[in-house]
Amino acid sequence: MSLPSEIFTDKAYIAGQWRQGERRFNVTNPATDEVLAEVPDLTADDARDAVAAAEAAWPAWRRQPVKQRAALLRAWFDAIMANQESLARLMTLEQGKPLAESRGEVAYGASFVEFYAEEAKRMAGETLPSHGVDKRILVFREPIGVVAAITPWNFPLAMITRKCAPALAAGCPVVIKPAEATPLTALALAKLAAEAGFPEGVLNVVTASRPAEIGEVLTTDPRVRKVSFTGSTPVGKRLLTQCAGTVKKVSLELGGNAPFIVFDDADLDAAVEGAVASKYRNSGQTCVCTNRLLVQAGVYDAFVEKLAARVAQLQVGNGLEEGVMQGPLINQAAVEKVTSHIDDALAKGGRLVCGGEPHALGGTFFQPTVIADVNAEMRVAREETFGPLAPVFRFDTDAEAIAMANATEFGLAAYFYASDYRRIWHVMEGLEYGMVAVNEGILSTELAPFGGVKESGLGREGSHHGLDEFTELKYVCVGGL
Ligand code: NAD
Repeated sequence: MSLPSEIFTDKAYIAGQWRQGERRFNVTNPATDEVLAEVPDLTADDARDAVAAAEAAWPAWRRQPVKQRAALLRAWFDAIMANQESLARLMTLEQGKPLAESRGEVAYGASFVEFYAEEAKRMAGETLPSHGVDKRILVFREPIGVVAAITPWNFPLAMITRKCAPALAAGCPVVIKPAEATPLTALALAKLAAEAGFPEGVLNVVTASRPAEIGEVLTTDPRVRKVSFTGSTPVGKRLLTQCAGTVKKVSLELGGNAPFIVFDDADLDAAVEGAVASKYRNSGQTCVCTNRLLVQAGVYDAFVEKLAARVAQLQVGNGLEEGVMQGPLINQAAVEKVTSHIDDALAKGGRLVCGGEPHALGGTFFQPTVIADVNAEMRVAREETFGPLAPVFRFDTDAEAIAMANATEFGLAAYFYASDYRRIWHVMEGLEYGMVAVNEGILSTELAPFGGVKESGLGREGSHHGLDEFTELKYVCVGGL
């Protein structure tokens, strides 16, 4: 499979220059295990160069008239959308998700660039009533400074634009450290940004196979003023600790354990469609993926039957093939985690309804799986599976459903299907989550604040709230008037 030459590059991007790096590491296609490319395996020194370049670019970047920053973002957006198909193919090659999902991710990722090109113009300060006749209170909203963006493999494009677009719009230069499994999409984005005309040092990409070495620089260098991380909760906690030494502002988009609740007054067919979209998209490898299905006793059997029938139709295969709805998992460790959750659930009394095994295609392909009669003692109740396993719990009352949904240290996304409006209000208010979807299986959009509570993270991405994460308030007291 040839790589799309119009966007492909195998070099890192620092200070407006393409960097080869002394060492290189392989990027492989999870659907075929074929090596796609080698990219630079950069070091702490390279990371410091990127930080220095960003720091040097900052004074001019923050002073650029906002309409110029907005125009550059708009040009980047246009370039991403003009290359939607090649970006989607590149993403499917290195990440495995079906082409239709990759196309959707390009559009979703680009929407943040478009949104913040517009929102930059509304980064207003304020004047407040003052505390003396001879004084005035001014509040400036200023860019925070150099931003480090550390991103995961499951959304190789959108997790980068969701951070970089608001940072750049606010007047902050960025250093991106993409996931080692999916650096090609990040480098393609840098190539398009360079072509769009961003000044040297404003956007840098540091690829590396040993993320801790780069992470150490990005979290301890005093020139970095903000770290925005999306990834697993353990790594997020470690980075938060590392950032404490220089008191950086930190945003964390971490793991989830999303409940998907089906009440007895729900439209079951709609609930099944929502559950399939929320559970099996990207082979179950999204942070907002349903992890636990909680179904009320009266509709439990009917729902499980309908879900199993729908799941049986999911076509598994190479994401580049037409009609495929579930690609491979990212690597063998992911397969082992799903398998261990299934084994644990079945050993503790779970009932296998469909799937349950690695797929006959081999490699890291896995059968879409449904397990019924699941209980709180099983690992699936507490841990993020990050794979195509739908465990179905049973509950009787609304209070029980809310308590089960909240019985986790995570609080990213929750979903529920119901029709009674009083129930909808009570459940919506009772869920301890950063995001709640009512009668919907998918909720991400650039127009809304995305993020979690509890151990799912800090801060929000998207909407005007996403811009605030990259700004500081400066209060100026003007006296002697
Ligand atoms: P991960 O934590 O292993 O890696 C994420 C990023 O951190 C990668 O770029 C990786 O190279 C880097 N990294 C790892 N160790 C590091 C260190 N010591 N210092 C600096 N960087 C380091 O996560 P993953 O496996 O790539 O992604 C899956 C996880 O991400 C899941 O838990 C998922 O829920 C979460 N996720 C969350 C969101 C969200 O918005 N909340 C979105 C997507 C994924």
